[in-house]
Amino acid sequence: MQIWNMKIPQKIKVFLWRAARGCLPTRERLRTRGVQCTDRCVHCEQSFENDWHVFFGCNKVEEVWAEAGLWSFIRDKLEIADGFVALFFQLLELLSQHNLHMFAMTMWSIWKRRNDKLWNGIETRPTVSIMLARDSLHQWQLIRQKRQHTAAVTGSDSSAATLHSSSNTIRWRKPGTGEVKCNVDAAIFKDHGCYGVGICLRGDNCEFIAAKMAWFYGLPQPQEAEACGLREAILWLGDRGLTAVSIELDYLCGVSLVAKSLGMISYQEAERFRVIEAAERKVIVLPVIGNDVGVQLREHDLSWNSFLSSDKLHSAADGWAFIDIQPGDVYCWPTNLGWVMGPTLMYSCFLSGATLAFYHGTPLGHGFGKFV
Ligand SMILES: [Zn+2]
Repeated sequence: MQIWNMKIPQKIKVFLWRAARGCLPTRERLRTRGVQCTDRCVHCEQSFENDWHVFFGCNKVEEVWAEAGLWSFIRDKLEIADGFVALFFQLLELLSQHNLHMFAMTMWSIWKRRNDKLWNGIETRPTVSIMLARDSLHQWQLIRQKRQHTAAVTGSDSSAATLHSSSNTIRWRKPGTGEVKCNVDAAIFKDHGCYGVGICLRGDNCEFIAAKMAWFYGLPQPQEAEACGLREAILWLGDRGLTAVSIELDYLCGVSLVAKSLGMISYQEAERFRVIEAAERKVIVLPVIGNDVGVQLREHDLSWNSFLSSDKLHSAADGWAFIDIQPGDVYCWPTNLGWVMGPTLMYSCFLSGATLAFYHGTPLGHGFGKFV
């Protein structure tokens, strides 16, 4: 069958085969099998959702095919087509090799887009859908080329060999015995207004364990995109029950990145993790004699004098003297953590030995009252 000869990722082939065999759980199919659910289309809610409507009939899907450059070709075939399966195989016959790959990736994108809307409430724009489809096909082709090249050079088909084949690049180091290594990387796509993170897990024999990709809207700074990747990695590792993992990133920003990533994780999730080792602590340097500390301070460090002249000790002293913050108190103040109230609250609270209560949301509703 033509599906299995296509040069596309295996999961897409399996998906196409399921679509052609009438195995996709569209709402109409679920209802015929006794599942109590609506039969309306996830996108337009106007027609019942069967294979034909999902992939060709819905007006929301036209934009996706148009974005892939295939709509005019498909549109001509719609009127004379004898149902979904017939049209599907007719298109496989008629499309050129290049368009065939794009057709397969677009089918998969349409189904993924439908599921994202149904299960996660995410409306993916057609441009983003197709861009992701193109990108994942391209990545897959690159990996295959690289593997074939390596196999030709070394006479083996070991994917791990690619990692060690070049002496000019920084070498990936094996994790210690019994340890797992997690590599995290982020890429920003300016033209499409989105960014992606890739995470790869390998064991102490370089063996591949698992990988994950995630996409987000927005154009953050590279450091923030990396922080987002690290957050995804931490949550994912936690879900897999892995604890002894060394995480490797290619962006050199140390502890501030870890702090930023952990700040993106909710309190309940963050409880499962602790940072065992990190770099770049902020240091307050005391001079031995006079005011000169005698060393070149790093960017974030403070001399004792600038520490004293900052608002930190004032905040703490005020909190202790005027609000009577005592060790063991739980301190809650209805404000957001802006550049004034943030440091003021934190220093007055923590230097006095109290616990700071954080509420996620606005302090104007009854939820905040209950929290207090
Ligand atoms: Zn529809």
